[in-house]
Amino acid sequence: MPSHNPRTIAEAIDACRDRLRSVSRTPWLDARLLAQYVTGLDASAVIAYGDASIDARRRNRLFELTERRATGEPVAYIIGRKSFCGLEIAVDRRALVPRPETEELVLSCINDWDGGSPIIADIGTGSGAIACALAHLIPRAQIMASDVSQEALELAAHNVHELGFAEQVTLVHSDLFAQYPDDARFDIVIANLPYVAEDKLHELHENVRDHEPAEALMGGVDGLDLYRRLLDQAPERTRQGGALYLECAPGNASVLHSLVVSTFPTAQTEVRKDAAGLERIVIARSVGAP
Ligand code: GLN
Repeated sequence: MPSHNPRTIAEAIDACRDRLRSVSRTPWLDARLLAQYVTGLDASAVIAYGDASIDARRRNRLFELTERRATGEPVAYIIGRKSFCGLEIAVDRRALVPRPETEELVLSCINDWDGGSPIIADIGTGSGAIACALAHLIPRAQIMASDVSQEALELAAHNVHELGFAEQVTLVHSDLFAQYPDDARFDIVIANLPYVAEDKLHELHENVRDHEPAEALMGGVDGLDLYRRLLDQAPERTRQGGALYLECAPGNASVLHSLVVSTFPTAQTEVRKDAAGLERIVIARSVGAP
């Protein structure tokens, strides 16, 4: 960290940004998020009160956290939260940090929503971000969210309770649909399952590889192992007229799309791009319709 001691919040943020320049693609954002965390100020206040002095204790804490960020730890794990679809989701190493492309998965589903009261399955919920966002955005939705990781499910339970969605979201410890109640059928199945192919592991940013849980990322040889198993189970778990929303790796969207078409030959299917223009979301609507 800098040899001189910054006196103000703005100077401290600048020092952190300089420290993170070579290790992060978003050094200024990271510095501001860490400064917000140590000062308790929100995003605008940390800028507006930039000239206010920062005491030595907070400054040292900020520098300590900046050093953690410099080793590649995601900011979200350091501050223990990530904003997702307007909610503040608690996150830690038990689950992936919710991604912007997964916000787009949720928004795809919301855009197609017909105003009804859907029963939704969120398979592989991790931190519970998708389930909480859907509960927030579709107040009459009932969501059954599952994860094979008991640890992830504990984090999801924390979020569901903290954010006040316990009446809408039920959590199930389950390998895909295996431990769901036998008679549970859904209007919407949404999933961001582990989808990184074995030979793409090296393409993941090393910070992701080193800090986030591999079991939430790796999807077998071609990345589609879990989606193949999910699609085997989906026909008997979807209601007539139901829909599927699946997040995938851009390189796999067309293969996943073909798998969806062969599972639901009469459905309306679609591949949607994310904000980066990458094919990221495979959708099937009117599954099981005559
Ligand atoms: N989008 C994540 C990444 O590339 C992967 C998420 C997943 O496997 N479901 O880092």
